[in-house]
Amino acid sequence: MPTLSCSAVKCVYNENRLCGKGDIKVTGDHALEPRDTCCSSFRENASGTVKNSFGEPSDQIQVDCSACNCQYNKDMECQADRVDISGPSSSRCAQTECCTFEKK
Ligand code: SF4
Ligand code: SF4
Repeated sequence: MPTLSCSAVKCVYNENRLCGKGDIKVTGDHALEPRDTCCSSFRENASGTVKNSFGEPSDQIQVDCSACNCQYNKDMECQADRVDISGPSSSRCAQTECCTFEKK
């Protein structure tokens, strides 16, 4: 499983740049660059007050991914050692992206 870091601090699952969801789904079916991808597991922390209460955040996480043009994608799973999800001001999933994407 990749080591994950996430700067989408407005997501309910984010705690100290780690993710408490347990597994995530990255989408980008026709992606040619990072901005064409996003973390579709993102859920906005609308109130801004509720911290992640879904589970203990882990830096190792299962990442399913539909970005088949990425060199780290194998059978719709991410095989990268490290994944960086970006979106410090994101309030919806389309504003996030996987910075680790590299075109095959
Ligand atoms: S944006 Fe994705 S990786 Fe980041 S905390 Fe939310 S669900 Fe986890
Ligand atoms: S590095 Fe590639 S395969 Fe892994 S989550 Fe990002 S876009 Fe998907």
